[in-house]
Amino acid sequence: MSKQPVTVIGLGPMGSAMAGAFLDNDHPVTVWNRTAGKADHLVARGAVRADTVQAALAANELVVLSLTDYAAMYDVLGPAATALSGRVLVNLSSDTPDQARAGARWAARHGATHLTGGVLVPPPWIGKPGASTFYSGPRQAFETYRETLMVLTGTDYRGDDPGLAALYYQLNMDMFWTSMLSWLHALALARANGITAKELLPYATSALDLRYFLEFYTDRIDAGEHPGDVDRLAMGVASVEHVAHTTRDSGIDSALPDAVLEIFRRGQDAGRGGDSFTSLIDILAARR
Ligand code: NDP
Repeated sequence: MSKQPVTVIGLGPMGSAMAGAFLDNDHPVTVWNRTAGKADHLVARGAVRADTVQAALAANELVVLSLTDYAAMYDVLGPAATALSGRVLVNLSSDTPDQARAGARWAARHGATHLTGGVLVPPPWIGKPGASTFYSGPRQAFETYRETLMVLTGTDYRGDDPGLAALYYQLNMDMFWTSMLSWLHALALARANGITAKELLPYATSALDLRYFLEFYTDRIDAGEHPGDVDRLAMGVASVEHVAHTTRDSGIDSALPDAVLEIFRRGQDAGRGGDSFTSLIDILAARR
């Protein structure tokens, strides 16, 4: 059976990897990018370069978007909106849940179907086992294109609401950036003390493997219970103070541990010193 043809719009590192994966799997691929030269290596591998966005949309029903954000989508597709009717836009660009919902409404107004996606892996993982993408939007459209989308990554359909895939994606990014910044901070502290990233690597991978803690605390957090039986927030405050002091003693920027300490202290000031540090969820979840 012939493979479903697909248009890929947006050829940054991610869109290029996606167009390449479709080509690797014998899907006919049409590409368009604002900076046209970024399509050259894909054209050399058999992709068709559309001269205009209209032509890219006209070429195929399935259109994968890989742009910086939804504002870029309006910039690219807005002037070609009359060509959107009947297209299925699989928007794998990052943005907020509200932007994804507004994007879906905008597409519908132009007669297109919109599926939101949130890709959980970097470009080198596209087309490789173990990669995954959140999807949400009309289930029927997702089911129709699921097999083709599986060329890129595994699929995790979150529901009809177009905002859901974006929400799950941003939840992942929330954890990812904060964790990665904690790693970079530790590396800066290590470097100030003559320790290389390479030397810290085994300890960093172990410290950031938080599965035990996540599994231990999850049910307690859902139950709203934060007993101080295995850790007390007051101990956590002292511990973060030690990190902040070690940072300052090493002569480097302490903005990150200071920010963490500020949140821990707010919990203590709210009378939670005898509870687990997980009681900070009540501080973090407070509406401001
Ligand atoms: P880039 O920002 O490097 O590339 C995005 C693409 O958007 C380029 O093709 C760029 O065109 C285009 N673009 C941006 N603004 C405009 C505009 N105003 N008008 C027309 N075209 C525009 O992103 P990536 O390729 O790295 O990622 C794409 C999406 O995937 C992003 O939303 C990102 O958050 C997400 N993602 C990326 C990952 C990664 O590791 N790279 C991992 C997971 C998700 P031009 O080439 O002309 O500049």
